[in-house]
Amino acid sequence: MNFRTESTPKRLLLVEDDPRISDFVSRGLRAEGYSVEVVATGREGLLLAQDGGFNLIILDIGLPDINGQQIVERLRSERKVMPILMLTARDALNDKLLGLRAGADDYMTKPFSFDELLARIEALLRRTDMDYQVDTTELRAYDLVLDRESHDVRRAGQLIDLTPKEFNLLEFILQSKGKVLSRTRILEHVWGYSNDPLTNVVDVYIRQLRKKVDDGHRVKLIKTVRGFGYKLDESDELFPEGFSHDDAT
Ligand code: CA
Repeated sequence: MNFRTESTPKRLLLVEDDPRISDFVSRGLRAEGYSVEVVATGREGLLLAQDGGFNLIILDIGLPDINGQQIVERLRSERKVMPILMLTARDALNDKLLGLRAGADDYMTKPFSFDELLARIEALLRRTDMDYQVDTTELRAYDLVLDRESHDVRRAGQLIDLTPKEFNLLEFILQSKGKVLSRTRILEHVWGYSNDPLTNVVDVYIRQLRKKVDDGHRVKLIKTVRGFGYKLDESDELFPEGFSHDDAT
């Protein structure tokens, strides 16, 4: 056997309000093996970037709500260190300067070729690779450990056998620990499409994952948030309903 061992895909966040551009860029990057999350507003982009877990952010400077430059300033003031590549309109020299001054690492002027964008992204990722390996290898919640390098998942030390999709789903909810994720967001992120109201694929996979991860354990990590979606949470419900902390002591 002589195939290359695939490492965990790098996670990229693309904040771009022009669907033609976000479509073309995200398709290309996914074909290159990247995991890409796409949002079209500055507000969503900022929230996701603040959550962390991205290896790089591609940020359009002209967004309908918060502009890209303000987002960079905010992230840098919060000491977020992931590389940021800005997309600017043609000839908007001022934008570039403002973006770079605000703390972006590089910029590209629209229209750009996909190959050039890819080359810039790869260069930025190489520069920061070392910093990121340390904190992205293991994800933990309570006694659950997911290793992004080896793809081993353990609960209370016991190895859990997951399918690739189950692994991706668990990785996604685990890296968003404590946050409610809508079915749409899970669908977009894990399955790569956003609108398929006819299937309940997310619910089906969550049920499977629960069987493997939570069944037989007192602490249930995968929670349903009625009317919203799911979250993985270790912080509360350490005791079953009707069972107080006092009873346990
Ligand atoms: Ca724009």
